[in-house]
Amino acid sequence: MNTVLHEVARQVASTPHAPAVVDAAGTRTYGELAAQAAAVAEGLRARGVRPGDTIAVALPRTGDHVAALLGVWQAGGVVVPLDPTSPPERTRFQREQAQVTHLLDSVPPPRGSAAVLATGDVGAEQCAYIMFTSGSTGRPKAVQVTHASLLHCVRAVAEILRPAPEDRYAANQTFAFDISLLEILLPLTHGGASLVTSEQLQADPGRLVAWLEGHDVSVVHATPTAWRSLLPYLTPGRTRLQAVCGGEVLTARLAAELAGRAGQVWNFYGPTEVTVWCTAGLVEPGEGDPLPVGRPLPGYRVEILDAGGDPVAGGVEGEIHVGGPGVAVGYRGAPDLTAERFVEHPRLGRLYRTGDVGRLLPDGRLHFAGRRDRQVQLGGYRIELGEIECVAQEHPLVELAAAQVVGGELLLFAQGPVTARALRKHLAAHLPISMIPPRIEVRAAFPLTVTKKIDRVALVASATGWEKT
Ligand code: AMP
Repeated sequence: MNTVLHEVARQVASTPHAPAVVDAAGTRTYGELAAQAAAVAEGLRARGVRPGDTIAVALPRTGDHVAALLGVWQAGGVVVPLDPTSPPERTRFQREQAQVTHLLDSVPPPRGSAAVLATGDVGAEQCAYIMFTSGSTGRPKAVQVTHASLLHCVRAVAEILRPAPEDRYAANQTFAFDISLLEILLPLTHGGASLVTSEQLQADPGRLVAWLEGHDVSVVHATPTAWRSLLPYLTPGRTRLQAVCGGEVLTARLAAELAGRAGQVWNFYGPTEVTVWCTAGLVEPGEGDPLPVGRPLPGYRVEILDAGGDPVAGGVEGEIHVGGPGVAVGYRGAPDLTAERFVEHPRLGRLYRTGDVGRLLPDGRLHFAGRRDRQVQLGGYRIELGEIECVAQEHPLVELAAAQVVGGELLLFAQGPVTARALRKHLAAHLPISMIPPRIEVRAAFPLTVTKKIDRVALVASATGWEKT
């Protein structure tokens, strides 16, 4: 039996005085983190928490959250991280969906140091956490992931990013997004440190980047949308930096801009339902759009199936299905939805149907061709909304683009100092007439989900004054 808790415990035993977590208030060593986690576990047991209980963790952005994670797992609990900045209605919905039994909204302060991190009541087949899908296109779903899947994913990503004791990982994602687990656990299972950014820093990208670089950050995960906001502040030529992108389409232009500021630029792909990521690839210099999302991570299987559930021939487009130990248990409290999306294939075993379209390239890399529900039929033409966005983002004054169909009409939203007229001209030079949106709206800033993806639901809902071009 092994879990991430066991792996962190090994680091506590071997380097108790090494820095483990850095936040605005200072540094916790591995030993100090272990002591604080033990206090959290003890407090939970005193409150009657039993193995299998579901604990909502809602803490400000400090190292306390890391101690809370480890402490809940020691007590055998299931972590449901909630973002304290989320609207109360979303939080209420999440607590209900996840069937939360206890709320952890404060933890004992770090005090003293421990030589051992107890692994307590944790087991590989137990559920480690429940996290919600980003909800960028619909209602968030409560995904349940076991310790075995979490450990598998952490090890698989570690084989790619190769965390080392001198690494400093930014922990800058909302704790309610599964990427935050990698920002914390990749360093802590390898003797490195996690740099937990505060809410105040997050509100000011210039100060945020200065703080991270001042603490010698070496790995940063962010969605392409979030990278856009950090980009102007990153020091050029910091070859120590590994820039990890994922969660949305990475354009070649953004990748090239990041390459001028980092030693390596990675494109990771995966839905929450397969435990954070399932494919990864290094972006090679000079590669153009569309950038592939890399190869399956160790232990993950990617199958491209047609509408009838049969594997397609090599290079043919179909729905991306994912298999392997990273595939989640299913959605909490939603057996029908679980049965619909987590399928038992007669020859290929248990697979998660992603709803994403893709094809395998001859070199084994995966090409992501958009979400199935974003391929639309308009006026007799099949239109891939992602393709319109890609072309729009090639315009030098467009930072972000989102194409949507509302009431049967194609709409394009753009963020950046571009005019609708200039963007229309650019689209007309690159796309067939059937793909040119009759309406274009330019926005100063797009609404984002808590996971820092474009919030398409909010974007469409806020569309009022259309700029006719
Ligand atoms: P979520 O589980 O809510 O974070 O969303 C997962 C979805 O984000 C995937 O199913 C894809 O549609 C999209 N996604 C994740 N990574 C990438 C990527 N590297 N490129 C394009 N889309 C991505």
